[in-house]
Amino acid sequence: MRNQIAAANWKMNLTFQQGQELLNTLIPQIPALQDNHQVIIAVPFPYLAHFQESVTDKKNVYIAAQNLSDKKSGAYTGEVSAEMLASVGIQYVLIGHSERREYYREDNAVLASKLDRALEHGIKPIFCCGEPLEIREQETQNAFVEAQLKESLFHLTAEQMADVVIAYEPIWAIGTGKTATSGQAEDIQKYIRAVVAEKYGNDVAENVAILYGGSVKAANAVEIFSQPDVDGGLVGGASLNAEEFLAIVKALQ
Ligand code: PEP
Repeated sequence: MRNQIAAANWKMNLTFQQGQELLNTLIPQIPALQDNHQVIIAVPFPYLAHFQESVTDKKNVYIAAQNLSDKKSGAYTGEVSAEMLASVGIQYVLIGHSERREYYREDNAVLASKLDRALEHGIKPIFCCGEPLEIREQETQNAFVEAQLKESLFHLTAEQMADVVIAYEPIWAIGTGKTATSGQAEDIQKYIRAVVAEKYGNDVAENVAILYGGSVKAANAVEIFSQPDVDGGLVGGASLNAEEFLAIVKALQ
């Protein structure tokens, strides 16, 4: 059975104290997770080492980074390397979030390097992909997302691919309150799995967790997660509220 994941993306929100308070409320209430269920919380860089300690005893709960450098080490002021993340015990990292692509000009080639850096240090990437509104309106979203996958992921070996989580996040649904219908999510996520299968074979594709992201909240999580090719969600806004995010965790299938 492939993993089902509730992933939180705090983005650039919450002070250290506010984050700590949220985790103090959230973590004790996360129910004992099934072997294939995971909760991953992506927090700002300065909090990683400290918050990592608060989940070490909690089975299948992980603290993640929201980004990492495409470079290995050296004179890159302000950057954080995969080696640094691994050295404080981080096991997951978001790569290619649409906000990084849009505001920091991260293209598919840079993202391919970031995937390499993460995997070199045993950090599992949560690779985000998804189309802008104009592409959805032209109904060319499948080809758009396929190109993102091919250009950033398809240099990986099958063994490396087994460590990748894919998050499909239509840009028009991120932070807008506008969610893809469960049917829209299923259609494209089924397509993504087929694209992965064509390159890596059915075994790899069947085991890759594909998350949906875009205004997931307690009220829509059960419906979205019930789709066969939706293996949980990447959650922005609703992950800043302990009760909302707990309900999303409980909606995992
Ligand atoms: C995200 O940031 O990945 C996201 C999906 O945000 P939101 O849930 O707020 O739409």
